[in-house]
Amino acid sequence: VLKGTGSGVLPPMLEQYVALRDLHPDFLLLFQCGDFYETFGEDAERAARLLGIALTHKSSKDFSTPMAGVPIRTLDSNVERLLAAGVRVAVADQIEEPGSGLVDRKVTQLLTPGTVTEERLLTADENYLGAVATGDGYALALLDVSTGEFRCAAFHTRTALYDELARHRAREVLLAPELAGNAALLADFQTRFPVMLSPANFGEEAARAELGEVLGEVPGSLGSSALVRACGAVLGYARLTQQGRLEMVRRVVRFEPGAHMRLSEAAVRALEVFAAQSPQGVTLMDVLNETRTAGGRRRLRAWLRAPLLDELSIRSRLDAVETLTRAADLRGAVRALLYRAHDLERLAARVATRRATPREVASLARTLELLPEATRLLDGHDGLLAGVRARLGALPDVVTLIRAALVDDPPIRAGEGGLIRDGFHAELDTLREGALGHRAWLAELETSERGRTGIGSLKVGFNNVFGYYLEVTGAHLGKVPADYRQIATLKDRARFTRPDLRDREREIARLETAAGRLELEVFTELRDGLAAHAEALGEAAGALSDLDVLTALAEIAVECGWVRPQTVSGGARLSQARHPVVERATGGRFVPNDAELGPTRHTLLLTGPNMAGKSTYLRTVALCALLHQVGSFVPADHAELPVYDAIHTRIGASDDLAGGRSTFMVEMSELAAILHGATHRSLVILDEVGRGTSTLDGLAIAQSALEHLHATGAHTLFATHYFELTRLEADHPGLVNLHVAAEEDETAHGGAGGLTFYHQVIPGAARQSYGVEVARLAGLPAPVTTRAARLLTALNAGGDDRKLTRELAALDLGRLTPMQALELLHKWQGEA
Ligand code: ADP
Repeated sequence: VLKGTGSGVLPPMLEQYVALRDLHPDFLLLFQCGDFYETFGEDAERAARLLGIALTHKSSKDFSTPMAGVPIRTLDSNVERLLAAGVRVAVADQIEEPGSGLVDRKVTQLLTPGTVTEERLLTADENYLGAVATGDGYALALLDVSTGEFRCAAFHTRTALYDELARHRAREVLLAPELAGNAALLADFQTRFPVMLSPANFGEEAARAELGEVLGEVPGSLGSSALVRACGAVLGYARLTQQGRLEMVRRVVRFEPGAHMRLSEAAVRALEVFAAQSPQGVTLMDVLNETRTAGGRRRLRAWLRAPLLDELSIRSRLDAVETLTRAADLRGAVRALLYRAHDLERLAARVATRRATPREVASLARTLELLPEATRLLDGHDGLLAGVRARLGALPDVVTLIRAALVDDPPIRAGEGGLIRDGFHAELDTLREGALGHRAWLAELETSERGRTGIGSLKVGFNNVFGYYLEVTGAHLGKVPADYRQIATLKDRARFTRPDLRDREREIARLETAAGRLELEVFTELRDGLAAHAEALGEAAGALSDLDVLTALAEIAVECGWVRPQTVSGGARLSQARHPVVERATGGRFVPNDAELGPTRHTLLLTGPNMAGKSTYLRTVALCALLHQVGSFVPADHAELPVYDAIHTRIGASDDLAGGRSTFMVEMSELAAILHGATHRSLVILDEVGRGTSTLDGLAIAQSALEHLHATGAHTLFATHYFELTRLEADHPGLVNLHVAAEEDETAHGGAGGLTFYHQVIPGAARQSYGVEVARLAGLPAPVTTRAARLLTALNAGGDDRKLTRELAALDLGRLTPMQALELLHKWQGEA
């Protein structure tokens, strides 16, 4: 642990350091030395590099080792930086007052990105720790230690597992040895998920013991041993970092990945649900996020991650949102109320684990005080809102208890006194009154002694060495009474004490210490009493989050003029649909479009020049479908939408250079997943498939993929620059050509010509690819574009040959009559 120079005989403090450091070999140890946290040896070198702090040396007679430290008060910011740099941190504190010998120290905190619960180290969003094991398929366990949410699921394919992990954006992942030991898989995993991978125990026996310890049993719903191992590993690791406390985890919810719309990792990325593709880009989440609380924000993310499949559930969310869109006053009142709420979910978890600070308990009370008003606001509503109301109202009255016990603005930490309200605890009151009485006597002392001695300038002072003293200036020393005992002589004055002064002082210290101790006891009792209500608190927190999301969705709908979608069993019909994010960016200049998908038109082939708005149109339809199943209104004037089992997307050429896979390879593997997964109930969005390879290859792949999808009956929107594909409309019923309007404009660009985009999607195939026009628009030199136009004409002529070849190849000579053959020859001659 500790490399250094010298004889190797460690001074006692470093011996202690090594012993504590050995307890947690995977952690960097911050070791309290007075006002600093120090690191030694290799840890010191790492800390110095990562934190940009000075590297010094700890040297004794026989030994010298690198040392680097940070002041205690900067702990949080330094821990934050270490975690961000992928370092797990252990903190060892001095647990006794420094005396003459070696101070006793203990590891008091283990901090990792996926398990921190300190409010200061958490972002407002959820903070998942994940664990993955294999067996029959893949098992995933997800735990948010800050709220106690614990979920798990089994997956058949690695793709499905990756999709789920990506959607939850785990901050730290534990991989079972069978996965971590597979170098190729590990490398693949690490490029997809640049999160901290931590070691954990995946033994099945240990896992069962862990589940028994935390949940009281091994839930039968877990079934497979892979799920048991993943759940056990997560709990074991979390319990290690939480020093054994995991009370807020009460149950594990096994979710069926099939219970929600399938939304692939690629789709979430392409639709920019949570992260934009350009650094300053806006996401769907940004547009929707009118939530007022951290819990609401987490809930909205959860809804977006798992759109519903069940028509009734979709309807009931939409009903609640609709009610709220109609009731502007109610919406305003609810939002004003939520604005005053603290993060109830996390507070409930802090209370459950008995970690809540006095200030957190006060925040809890302040938030709970809002609930009666919230239930009153929801009086008389039905459906989801009635459910929310019931869950908010079910909490026993803990506010009165907290308010009676705790002062209004308690200090951050317990143990500093001033927590408990006067009049709450008789014994505490007696101690406090006693101390106050003595203090009052001291406050009077100066006046009374001035009177008694006749020394008008006599002062009562206090310092840490002597405690209280009486101070007399040189001129009056003669008047000092006999019961004064001199304790210090300064240049022009002297300080005195008196036996009864000492007694009073000792008494004050005794009473105040006792009061402090008792306060802590009373507070701990209060907090433990609250822990008993953790379940109900969690329920109320969940209800508040639901209410927040529903209100936010209503607010957006009203603000942006969205409409309630009708859930239908047939086709999709959108009129005047807009892309919620692009609409905002284009500020009122957005061109709305209609979309219709149904049995007679389930494959829409969209052509048009680059930059015309194809991609935006595709995403508009997908986002409307997504929003519908989240339970939100949609950006359109009218919307009818079926319940899709999945939204598949393959959009743009995403570079995965870090992953070492070529762009085309990425494109093809995403396409493969779509072709395997799409059903007649899916919505498929494909943009420029086949772009990543040579034209003929690309065309061939695009056409065969399109034909395959067409056969599945999935609702497919296919944007392409391959004009050859528009011919498919003729012999593929249900395949319909659309194009985005653009017009050549002779006068544009100083007579050089160019394109005007209308962003309007209209029936029929585009006339030509406009590629050369766009090249001109982009400023390619005139000779180049002129030459390109000439080449294009020649290539198009060649296209006729290819058409002939294709028709020839498609002939079934066995069934062709001589007459038909002659007719064909005649036709071809006419075309040549
Ligand atoms: P394509 O996929 O055809 O290359 P995009 O969909 O990427 O085109 O759109 C190009 C740009 O045109 C977008 O960045 C957007 O700003 C604008 N745009 C697209 N559709 C519309 C629309 N309906 N109304 C207004 N602007 C649009």
